[in-house]
Order: sequence, then structure tokens, then C-alpha cells
Amino acid sequence: MKNIILFGAPGAGKGTQASLLAEKFDLIHLSTGEMLRREVALETPLGLRVRNIMNRGDLVGDDVVVSLIAKALDHGRNEMLDEWDELRLRRACGIGPDDPLPEKPQPSIIYDGFPRTVQQCQMLEFLFQKKQRRLDAVISIDVPQEELVHRIHERALSSNRSDDTEEVIRHRLEEYEAKTRPVLDYYKVSGRLVSIDGSGEIPETNTRLCQVMEYIMAR
Ligand code: AMP
Repeated sequence: MKNIILFGAPGAGKGTQASLLAEKFDLIHLSTGEMLRREVALETPLGLRVRNIMNRGDLVGDDVVVSLIAKALDHGRNEMLDEWDELRLRRACGIGPDDPLPEKPQPSIIYDGFPRTVQQCQMLEFLFQKKQRRLDAVISIDVPQEELVHRIHERALSSNRSDDTEEVIRHRLEEYEAKTRPVLDYYKVSGRLVSIDGSGEIPETNTRLCQVMEYIMAR
């Protein structure tokens, strides 16, 4: 039962790479951005509260995202199976095809877009203690600023996301520099940070990530 954080600036390709890794290594993919977008689309009270914050490109409150993660970790079997098929869940937990599933299986998880502030890192540590999980690795996808800006131009042309206009993405990059980059220093100290070059095409970055993941999953 591994816990891996995929870290990177907006435009680094976290979402794409996290999906590919989840598929290949049988992981649950937890994306706080996706969870929040779901709340907004469903117009839940939380969604209505965070919609404008997200549209501006600001970060949502630490307590909000941590409680979404806590809820996801608390998921009962059935809710988890909604997002994930049973076969993958059995494989990931080493449960045979005819054996009963436990009420709360503990599969490996890849975290995408979380934590994004040092405060969230500290809250996650506390949460892991409570849930008897431990952090195995933080993988940072490093992309130079010029390449991020180039990708942002491209993404702004083709994306359906309301926070993918050029102006808002620039603000998201500022938020990243001010509040999220310090997360790297936080994890550097603990020796669990691995950085990979994410400046190339998706398959190239994916190959590098898979090499790191093979090592983490085998430990
Ligand atoms: P993402 O899809 O990860 O790029 O996130 C989209 C937006 O959701 C961000 O710009 C924030 O407004 C919000 N968001 C997602 N994850 C977090 C987080 N861990 N902390 C605060 N805000 C978040």
C-alpha cells in the first residue's frame, strides 16, 4: 500500500502522467482539482463556494482540500469501486478473484495536485498517522518556466476548463511560485523527493516516471 505524491507546476503534465501511472501500476488516482471540479459541476454547497476561487486561479483553502482527501481515504468499498473496477482493486490489494473483498481495502494511491502548501503537507502527515498510511515518495516533474509558458499558450487555445484562460493560468503560476514551490523544500529535507525532467514529450516523461515508479513499487 504505497502513497506517492506527483508534484509539478501548472502545465507540468501531472494529471496526464498520474492517469498513465495509475493505469500501469494499479493505483488510485486522487486529484484534488478533479474532485473540486466535480463539486462545482454538481453545484454542491462546496462547489458554489469554491467556483469563483478556482476561476480566478487562486488556491482553495487548505482545510477544504484536506477534508476532500480525508473523505476519499475513508471511502467504503462500493464508492471506491465506482471509480475503479473491481479487478484492478483485487490485483492492487493482492486479493484473489474468488476471495471476499474487505470492507475497506487499502490500495496504493497517487496524489495529483495535492499537497500544494506547506500547511497541507503538515495536515497530510497528521492524516496519514490517523489512517495508518505513510508517504513513500514525492516525484517532482520539473519543467523550465519558458516551456510552461509555451504549454499554457497551447492549453489556453484548446481547453474547456474555465481556469485555463491565459490570464488565469499566469496567476496560477504565480500562486505556484509563492505557495506551492516551498513544498519542494519541505520534502527535500525528508529525503523522499525525486525530481525528473519533464521538459520533453509525454511518452519521454512517462518513461522516466515509470523507471522511478518501478523502484518505488518494488521496495
Ligand atoms: P488542478 O486541476 O490541480 O490544476 O487544480 C485546479 C484548481 O483547483 C487550482 O487552481 C485550485 O484553485 C484548486 N486546487 C486543486 N488542488 C488544490 C490544492 N491542493 N490546494 C488548493 N487548491 C487546489
